[in-house]
Amino acid sequence: MGFLAWPLETNRIRRDVTNNTFGTVRRNADGTKRDHQGWDLVATPLTACYAIADGVIRKREDHDAKGHGKLVVLEFLFQGRTLFALYSHLSIASVARGTKVTQGEVIAYTGTSGNANGMTGEDQHLHFEIRNELEAGRGLSGRVDPQTLYGRAPREYAIVESHGQKRLLKSSGAGLKINAQDMRRW
Ligand SMILES: [Zn+2]
Repeated sequence: MGFLAWPLETNRIRRDVTNNTFGTVRRNADGTKRDHQGWDLVATPLTACYAIADGVIRKREDHDAKGHGKLVVLEFLFQGRTLFALYSHLSIASVARGTKVTQGEVIAYTGTSGNANGMTGEDQHLHFEIRNELEAGRGLSGRVDPQTLYGRAPREYAIVESHGQKRLLKSSGAGLKINAQDMRRW
């Protein structure tokens, strides 16, 4: 596929902090850093999640396990590479394993399962990863920075994609400032 859709209609990094982007960005109590394997995108529970590309659902977990909780993994082809998009902390995975889906199709609804249990307000999110292996290892092994595919992390901005139109909204402390600028080139 030539372009990727965004996983949510409104996409913004949780609390606009680097901590919730990809890489060795989180701090332990002693100040050392640890890895975050994807992006945390702010989402009220039961927000629809969209297939970012045409592909096949390779994995679905419905049990509310530790860690990711409920999840789906979409396999897709992008720029000649087979990649996997993981959506986790879901409330509902609405597609079965093996289902072929088309870009923009609703495949799940966000939630607070796994180790997002108990999160409230602005901390509720979709954990979204891009992998180059279905069963990626520990740390950043088998992961791809989503920014390398999307061009930027939606931090201090929200990227809104609806019915094929993309917009960039400047984020202010109180929420989104409605001062939309056409960003169709993304
Ligand atoms: Zn996360």
